[in-house]
Amino acid sequence: MNTSSDPVQACSGSTGDTCGVIRLSNLDSVVAKLGELSFELYLEEFERRLKQVLRSADSYTKIPPNKYRVELYEITESSLVELAVAKLVRELEKPVEIIGDRLRFEFNMGFAIPGLGVSNKATMRAAESSLKSAVRAQKTYVIGGAEGNDKAEIDPHLLPRLEQALETGELVLHYQAKVDAAYQRLVGAEGLVRWNHPEEKRVIPPGEFIEVVENSDLVRPMTEYLIRAGIARCVEWAAPLSVAVNIAPKVLETDQLFPVVADALNFYGLEASRLILEITERGELPVQSLAQLETLRELGVKISIDDFGTGQCSLSYFRDLPADQVKIDSSFVMAMNTSHKDRSIVRGCIDLAHHCNMEVVAEGVEDEQAALDLKEMGCDVLQGYWIGKPMSFTAFEQEYLRGLSGQEEPSLFASLLD
Ligand code: C2E
Ligand code: CA
Ligand code: CA
Repeated sequence: MNTSSDPVQACSGSTGDTCGVIRLSNLDSVVAKLGELSFELYLEEFERRLKQVLRSADSYTKIPPNKYRVELYEITESSLVELAVAKLVRELEKPVEIIGDRLRFEFNMGFAIPGLGVSNKATMRAAESSLKSAVRAQKTYVIGGAEGNDKAEIDPHLLPRLEQALETGELVLHYQAKVDAAYQRLVGAEGLVRWNHPEEKRVIPPGEFIEVVENSDLVRPMTEYLIRAGIARCVEWAAPLSVAVNIAPKVLETDQLFPVVADALNFYGLEASRLILEITERGELPVQSLAQLETLRELGVKISIDDFGTGQCSLSYFRDLPADQVKIDSSFVMAMNTSHKDRSIVRGCIDLAHHCNMEVVAEGVEDEQAALDLKEMGCDVLQGYWIGKPMSFTAFEQEYLRGLSGQEEPSLFASLLD
C-alpha cells in the first residue's frame, strides 16, 4: 500500500481510480481527553483500520489537520465502490480503546467514481464535494461521480480517437482464465477489451472508455471485431476450451449480430459451443433482442448472464431468458467471507441457476478460501484474481497453455494449489 504524508503526493494515482476523502470531526475533543501522546495512538489505530480494509494497490494520504485522502486503485464499478466503502464504515465504527479510554471515530466520507477521461485530480475534487454533501446532509458518506462536476475535462476527441483505434488495431482482447471449481482445470477465458494507446504508452482499461463506446454506434463494429478476434484465438486452443466475449445490450437491438457470429464461426472453423456471449443483466431486453439470443443458441452458441444479481429483472423474466449460464456478480463473491447475507445470496444464486439447468460462474474470486467455499456450494466455474488476472494473449498462452497449440491437452491447473 502506498502511504504518504505529503499532500502534493495525494493525487499520485492514475485516471481510473476511485477517490475518497475522510474527515475526522472530533479531534479537538479527543486531544482534550487523551492528551497529545495518546492522541497519536488514536490516529495510529485509525490508519491501522484503513490499511486493514484497503488492498495493497490502494493508497491513502494524511492531509493535516483532520483529513485523509484515499485512492481505490482501478475500482470504477459502483457496486465494488459501495462494497469497499461499507467495509470501511464497518471497521471505523467499531469502538477504540486507548489506555483504558473507550472512544469512537467520528467521521464523514466523500467518494467519487471517475468519469471517462477525467483526471485523478478532478476525481479528487469531486470526492471533496461529495464530502461536503455528506457533512451538509449529516450522512456518514456520499458516493458521487466525477462527471457531473468536471464535464469540461471529458476529452471531446475520445470517440473519434476510438474509431481510429479500432481501425488501427489498438483495441485488443486480454484474456482472463476460467477454471472448473472442482479440479481447478482451465475451461476457457473471458476476453476483456483493452486499448493499447501508443501516445499514452499504456494499456487503457475499459473503465476509461467503454461507456463512450457503448453510448455510440461504434459499439457494433467494435463488438463484431472483438468477436472475430476471440474466435480466431480460441480456435488455436485445445477443445473444449471456450472464449467469452462481452456484448452490450445495444448490439442485440438490430438483427446484425447473428450473421456476424455465424460467419465468423464458419470462417475460422470453431464449434459454436466454444463461444460464449456475456450479456449484462441491467434491465429487461426487448423481445427482438431475446429472439436474436434464441437463434444464436439454436446455432449452439452459449449465452451467459453477466453481473447476475445486480440488475432489476424479475424472476419470471430470468426464467424465460434464453441463457445457459449465469455469472454471479463479483460484489457478492468478494463480500462472502465477511458477510453472511452475501454468502446466502451466492448460495441462493447457485441453487436457483442449477434448478433452471444453468451453469454457474463465480467472478471476483480473490482468495483460496472463496474458491474452496464456492466449490463446496456446488459452483461450476471460477474466475478471479486468485486464479489469474486478465493478460495479453501471449502471456495467457505462456501461463496456461505453455505454448501448446490445438492438438494437445491444456496443462492441469494443479500448480495453482501448490
Ligand atoms: P465484467 O464483464 O464484469 O468483467 C470483469 C471485470 O472484473 C474485469 O475488469 C476484470 O479484470 C475484473 N476482475 C476479474 N477478476 C477480478 C477479481 O478477482 N477482483 C477484482 N477486483 N476484479 C476482477 P475490466 O477488464 O476492467 O472490465 C470491466 C468491464 O468492462 C467488464 O466487466 C465489462 O462490463 C466491460 N467490458 C470489458 N470488455 C468489454 C468488451 O469487449 N465489450 C463490452 N461491451 N464491454 C466490455
Ligand atoms: Ca463479462
Ligand atoms: Ca461481470
